[in-house]
Amino acid sequence: MDLYEYQGKELFRRFGIPTSEGRVASTPVEARAAAQELGGQVVVKAQVLTGGRGKAGGVKLADNPDDAEQTAEQILGLDINGHVVRKLWIEDASEIAKEYYLSVTFDRGAKQSLFMLTKEGGVEIEEVAANNPDALARLHVDPLEGYQPYQARQLIYGAGIDDQNEQKQLLSIIEQLYRCFVESDAMLCEINPLIVTPEGEIRALDSKFTVDDNALYRHPDIAEMRDLEAYPPEERAAREKNVTYVKLDGEVGILGNGAGLVMSTLDVIALAGGRPANFCDLGGGGDAQGVVDALEVITADPQVRSILFNIFGGITRGDVVARGILQALEQMTIEQPIVVRLDGTNAEEGREILAEAAPPNLHTEATMLDAARRAVELAA
Ligand code: GDP
Ligand code: MN
Repeated sequence: MDLYEYQGKELFRRFGIPTSEGRVASTPVEARAAAQELGGQVVVKAQVLTGGRGKAGGVKLADNPDDAEQTAEQILGLDINGHVVRKLWIEDASEIAKEYYLSVTFDRGAKQSLFMLTKEGGVEIEEVAANNPDALARLHVDPLEGYQPYQARQLIYGAGIDDQNEQKQLLSIIEQLYRCFVESDAMLCEINPLIVTPEGEIRALDSKFTVDDNALYRHPDIAEMRDLEAYPPEERAAREKNVTYVKLDGEVGILGNGAGLVMSTLDVIALAGGRPANFCDLGGGGDAQGVVDALEVITADPQVRSILFNIFGGITRGDVVARGILQALEQMTIEQPIVVRLDGTNAEEGREILAEAAPPNLHTEATMLDAARRAVELAA
């Protein structure tokens, strides 16, 4: 789960990382009030779950409350890389002497956390890595040994930061960022830019923060930060019904049991010349309610022209799934043709049950490839 800048900064603050004071605003009038409260020059920042806001005109300085209101008017509604701005962060403007970059993330290859620090902040880190790799200091932290202060010193010297006052502040920021990363179950904590003010004070001016979805149950306060309006409506409905669903761009609705099977079903649809409309995993179930919920979510997408059920019975039994499908079709009207491929435990019984009931618009196929071809044909 990606956090907005202002949410990431809230977590930074909890761990002692210095940030500027600010307020959230969702209308120009609120932006004016925020600027009034903060006093002096402010910066008005688009809150969207994508980077490059500065270049896209989503970060602007405002000298007074009037100016903040007008600037907010310009930025709200702006489309930044496909994300429409609905919220702003109004923050005390900083004076910037230098822009550094600091992040910690996973290095999956090394099976360790990886810190990166450079004096060349403010631009995309990929650019620094490509054009000036020597300026980028990298340092691994073994998760079992944990963070040791000497490591921060190595990182700081590696980046060529020789001002003692800066070194001292960075030493504690690096330690705090590591704690923030581990204790929040984060996958990425990135500060770009990490600024040095003309007075020599170091502060996080931006935040990019990703938390591991699978650990959210341990962090109800972070889970609550999820902004449902930032997701496609189909995914919002799925979340409410507890259906594992990801929207894609195609026309063939997909339903299967087991994430691996569903992933390969997406591939087979592509192989058959079609495009999947979604990823949807029924899990180990297959009972009528689970099928109804999943079908409701899948058919809410107006692009869906056919639906493919791909079921491999391991623990799930084919006859149970077949009955689930029939019951679901009694409870709801599905306009699109449905192709069912049943294999594994009690597949034969399942197919017989479907053949006997023979609901209109339902086709059974024995293999995954034939089922995919049929579904693609029917979607054409
Ligand atoms: P991003 O473009 O999405 O990464 O957004 P940032 O939060 O990093 O802001 C982009 C740029 O705006 C920064 O690199 C700064 O140069 C500038 N900026 C942001 N906040 C301030 C501020 O308080 N004062 C000044 N002078 N510039 C700022
Ligand atoms: Mn940034």
